[in-house]
Amino acid sequence: MYRKNEIIELNITALTSDGDGVGRAGEMVFFVPNTAVGDIVRAKVLKTKKNVGFARVEAIVTASPYRVEPDCPVSFSCGGCVYRHISYEAECAAKRQKVIDAVTRIGKLDGALVKDIIPSENIDGYRNKAMIPVGLNRDGEAVMGYYARHSHRIMHCLRCQLSPPVFNEIISDVYTFLKHRPSLIYTPQNRRGIRHLYLRCAETTGDVMFCIVAGSRHFDGDTALYDSLKEKYPQIKSIVVNVNAEDTNVILGRYTHTVYGKPYLTDTLCGLRFDIAPEAFYQVNRSQAERLYGKAKEYAALRGKETLIDLYCGAGTIGLSMADSCKHLIGVEIIPEAIENAKRNAERNGIHNTRFICADASQAAATLRKEGVRPDVIVVDPPRKGLTPELIDTIVQMAPKRVVYVSCDPATLARDLKLFTENNYSVREITPVDMFPRTSHVEAVVMMSRKDFN
Ligand code: SAH
Repeated sequence: MYRKNEIIELNITALTSDGDGVGRAGEMVFFVPNTAVGDIVRAKVLKTKKNVGFARVEAIVTASPYRVEPDCPVSFSCGGCVYRHISYEAECAAKRQKVIDAVTRIGKLDGALVKDIIPSENIDGYRNKAMIPVGLNRDGEAVMGYYARHSHRIMHCLRCQLSPPVFNEIISDVYTFLKHRPSLIYTPQNRRGIRHLYLRCAETTGDVMFCIVAGSRHFDGDTALYDSLKEKYPQIKSIVVNVNAEDTNVILGRYTHTVYGKPYLTDTLCGLRFDIAPEAFYQVNRSQAERLYGKAKEYAALRGKETLIDLYCGAGTIGLSMADSCKHLIGVEIIPEAIENAKRNAERNGIHNTRFICADASQAAATLRKEGVRPDVIVVDPPRKGLTPELIDTIVQMAPKRVVYVSCDPATLARDLKLFTENNYSVREITPVDMFPRTSHVEAVVMMSRKDFN
C-alpha cells in the first residue's frame, strides 16, 4: 500500500479519457496529470483508494518522445488545455483511441469501425467563442480569466492561445477598465454586477459580439466602456447584456437586451449565411465544423427525394447544409431564439423545403411519428448527455434508412449506439473529428443504417 506524499517512479503507458497519464505500480493504477505515454516520472502520491491512486509529477526521469514544450504559462493549472505538452499527432492518436475505447468497451462494437480522425487545420486561435468569468479576489481586486482545472476558482489570465488575438485584446482592455471600477463586478452580496464576459466572432466577416452577463436587470453597464470598445474595435457589431440571477453553473440567463448594434452575429458556414443569437449554439471551431458537416452529409447519402429530420438542430446549420440534397427538412431544437434563427436562416438562404419545431427532441419525435412522418434519414446532434432511450425507441419505430449521429461525448455515444444495434440498426462507420485541439474533448460522427437496408 502506498502512503500519501510517498514518492514513486511510474512508467506512463496510457491516457485516460480526460487526458491524464496512467501508470502501474504493483497492483495499483495511478493517474498522473500532465504526462505523456512513454514518460518515466517520479511522482508524489496525493491520494489512494482501493486499487487506484492519484499522483503529481515531481520530476521527469525520461521524457516521452511525444513531448513538446508547452507554449502557455498556465497550461498545467488551467481547465482548458490538457494536451499542450504533447505533439498534435500524439494528441490526435489519443483522441481516436478515446473513441475506440468507448465504442468497444461500452458499445461492444468492433474498434475497426473507427476511421482516421479528421485533424483540425488550426490548433491555436480556433475558438470563435470565449466565456470569461469575472470576480473579485480576497483583497477585493478584479480577477478575470479561466477556471482552474476541476474547480470554479477564477485563474487570473488575460490571454488564451485558443482564442483569436482580438478576444485577448478586448479582454485586456476590459480588465484595465474594471481594475479601477471593482464595484461593477458581481459579488454574492451585490448580486448585480458583471459575472462573465462572453465574446463571439464570425470567422468569415471578422464581426465580434460583446456580451456582458450581469447578475440583475438593474445593471446598466457603463457607457464609457461601451464607447471605448466601439471606438477601438469597429468590428464589434453587437453589444448585448444578458441577465443571469441564478446560482447554477449555467452561464447565460434567459433575458438578453441589446445595447448597441445587432442582436445577433452573422457568419458563413458551408456556403450559407447564418444569423446566430447569443443564446443559440454555434460550433466553436467554424472551419472544422465544415469538415464535420461534410462527413455528416456524406453519411446521410441523400439523393434529393428524402425527408430528413435534424434533431437538436440549433440555428439550423447541419440540416440547412444538407437541404439542397433532400426533398423536405424538419429541424427540432429546444431554445426558442435558436429556432427563430433557424427559420430566418432558411428564408435568408432561399431554402423553402423546411419546417422548424421548438420542442424537446424526444417529445417532438414522438409527435412527428404520430403524425405519420416517415423520415428517410435522421441526423442527431445532442448535448453531452446523449439521447434518451425513448427517443431511440421512437427513431427505431420511424425506421429511417440511415441515422447519422454527431456526438461530442464518446461515452454517451457508445451507450446509445449499443441500444441502436440491439434494435435493428448497424453501425457502419465512425469518424472522430478534432473540433477542440489541445483540450480533452473529441467529436465523432457515426453512420448507422437499418439492418435490412444497405
Ligand atoms: N446541430 C447544431 C447544434 C448542436 S448542439 C449545430 O451543429 O450547431 C446541441 C443542441 O441541442 C443545442 O442547440 C441545444 O440547445 C439543443 N438541445 C439541448 N437539449 C435539447 C432537447 N432536449 N431537445 C431539443 N434540443 C435540445
